[in-house]
Amino acid sequence: MRERGILAVVSGFSGAGKGTLMEALMAKYDNYALSISATTRQPRDNEEHGKQYFFVSETEFDNMVENDQFIEYARYVEHSYGTPKEYVMEQLEAGKDVILEIEIQGALKVKEKFPETLLIFVTPPSAEELKRRLIGRGTETMDVVEARLQRACQEAEQMDRYDYLLINDQVEPCMEELHRLIQSQHRRMSLHGEFAAKMKKELKEISE
Ligand code: 5GP
Repeated sequence: MRERGILAVVSGFSGAGKGTLMEALMAKYDNYALSISATTRQPRDNEEHGKQYFFVSETEFDNMVENDQFIEYARYVEHSYGTPKEYVMEQLEAGKDVILEIEIQGALKVKEKFPETLLIFVTPPSAEELKRRLIGRGTETMDVVEARLQRACQEAEQMDRYDYLLINDQVEPCMEELHRLIQSQHRRMSLHGEFAAKMKKELKEISE
């Protein structure tokens, strides 16, 4: 039987470079599935429906909530975001390591539902660098940049609820570290109950 995949949540301040990190990870390794969320916010210029997000109306989003189609959902700076359940479950069953790139409220809800979830927090090396990246992206108005920095202040208060911290200074090394972190979870003792039981039994037999 194929080993079940690892569920990993990657969060971090808006502007931490999570998107670039995910792209680099997907381009290099095969065994990952990136969950695509539904959101009520408008697509940015470079975004496509079904690629970065499923862009839905408030009504469509509410229907998905009502039909229990999300693992979790949350509000973030005036919009709703949710993780569709079906895809994540299918991929985990198929042995893929599934990554949810979601914010902190959602991350904590997922951990509550699935305690084995690996929570990883990505941050730029400094607050100054975060602001620079947010402005440099040029996709948001100054009001939105300010709102996102405010939100980062709140999120920073909860950083220590994550399992691991990743400092995204350079994409390549950071991506490799993320990969190692997730792969190391496959060796968790709690995932190898069957092997442990078999070993114990065989040892008993051999030592008799
Ligand atoms: P953005 O609008 O910049 O694409 O995303 C804003 C924030 O929403 C980011 O922190 C992103 O990780 C988070 N996010 C994206 N999808 C989801 C989701 O399905 N659930 C939750 N809780 N947060 C999400």
